[in-house]
Amino acid sequence: MNKTIAVIRGDGIGPEIVGETLGVLDAVAAKFGHTFTYREAPMGGCAIDAFGVPLPDSSLAACLASDSVLLGAVGGPKWDGQPAGNRPERGLLKLREAMGLYTNVRPARMFSDLSAACPLRPDIAAGGIDFVVVRELIGGMYFGRHTTWEENGELRAEDVCSYSEHEIRRVARVAFDMARKRRRRVTSIDKANVLDTSRLWRRTVTAVAEEYPDVELLHMYVDNAAMQIVRDPGQFDVIVTENLFGDILSDEASQITGSIGMIPSSSMGEGTRGMYEPIHGSAPDIAGQDKANPIGTVLAAAMMLRYSFDMAAEAAAVEAAVDGVLKEGWRCGDIMQGGGRPVGCREMGRLIREHI
Ligand code: NAD
Repeated sequence: MNKTIAVIRGDGIGPEIVGETLGVLDAVAAKFGHTFTYREAPMGGCAIDAFGVPLPDSSLAACLASDSVLLGAVGGPKWDGQPAGNRPERGLLKLREAMGLYTNVRPARMFSDLSAACPLRPDIAAGGIDFVVVRELIGGMYFGRHTTWEENGELRAEDVCSYSEHEIRRVARVAFDMARKRRRRVTSIDKANVLDTSRLWRRTVTAVAEEYPDVELLHMYVDNAAMQIVRDPGQFDVIVTENLFGDILSDEASQITGSIGMIPSSSMGEGTRGMYEPIHGSAPDIAGQDKANPIGTVLAAAMMLRYSFDMAAEAAAVEAAVDGVLKEGWRCGDIMQGGGRPVGCREMGRLIREHI
């Protein structure tokens, strides 16, 4: 198969982790007889430096013309002083919107070889951690009106959160479809005791559930959910929630599995084209030092193979290679435990390629 992948290396550790991941994709192409063509699409701080804007039209066009998008991470202190509309993260929000990526899926799964990195008590983690967070991605407060104005001699600010039924319905269906391939339980998270958007969320998700009588639906308030994820993570199978709550809960969920450097995510809309990235940021504190863990990005590429290119065997080969490297004890700094064999980003990439 021939596939074109738009490549956004981004800022900080982005170029390092993406470079190793492309090497892994090349190994997959060689082994399985595919051709992957990479189209560079600068975005983030590096694009502000080169083009004056975080998402140049040429990069957006490259993403829209490709079969999928692989992203490292964007942002860093160098661009913190940019006006709100021109910050690196704006490029990401604009790209998600332009590609119609309304769903973000993040697995929270504990790797058995990394159970010592789990910050929860062993008796809590013993129940197993294996759930996914399905987050609405292009609605809610992040996409509402943002205003700051002066009133009575001081500044006042407002961010508007709104949702319509179709925005909730389509992401709910993604969650229910996913639950059918898993343990058939959806937990919908909202703040329906306070917010109108949450009451609409709850009503709409409940209506969608009628199309899925074989899937159990539970509702939970977001404050309780934040607590339950660390108290009893084994109760969750598929979590579905709105943009802001999902942003926070998915970070919490990934942290309890060990390292932020290990977790991939996919963003999808209609059709098969998606955007795949690790969940972490650009880690400016370790950029350029060969210290970054590339596994989150490598596993994001595996998700791309599975969900966008329908290459299940190829995805499984990548995941098995990562498991194999971990079993042999190789560890980047972020997942290092006593007795681990230390490696940097480049060597971790080489080991994964070797296993493929
Ligand atoms: P971060 O995720 O970049 O880093 C948090 C901590 O985790 C740091 O100590 C970092 O060294 C470590 N870390 C992250 N990824 C790692 C990896 N692969 N291997 C080893 N260690 C890793 O979060 P932050 O420091 O809050 O943000 C830094 C910048 O990234 C900010 O400008 C932020 O806006 C941006 N950001 C971008 C994205 C994205 O591009 N999707 C997401 C989150 C944050």
